[in-house]
Amino acid sequence: MPRKSHRVGPAIVSDGTGTIAYRAVTDLVCVQCGRAINADELFSRRAQHAPTGAIGLKTAPVCVACRPLHMEEIAAAPMEGVDG
Ligand SMILES: [Zn+2]
Repeated sequence: MPRKSHRVGPAIVSDGTGTIAYRAVTDLVCVQCGRAINADELFSRRAQHAPTGAIGLKTAPVCVACRPLHMEEIAAAPMEGVDG
């Protein structure tokens, strides 16, 4: 299954909660506002209730306009040679 995003690292959302930032590899759509998340843009993911009949939780992309990300840790300590 082709990957649609790269995991970038930990980030802080505007409300102070921690999340994981991702970078889009292909164009995605924000589940909250429907805006396109273009390749190379940062975004976060949120848990989404699975459709009826499906098992478990799915995660769906949310754009930075809906959920601004603060990447202080990443800016302070760039990650190099991270696998995965
Ligand atoms: Zn959005």
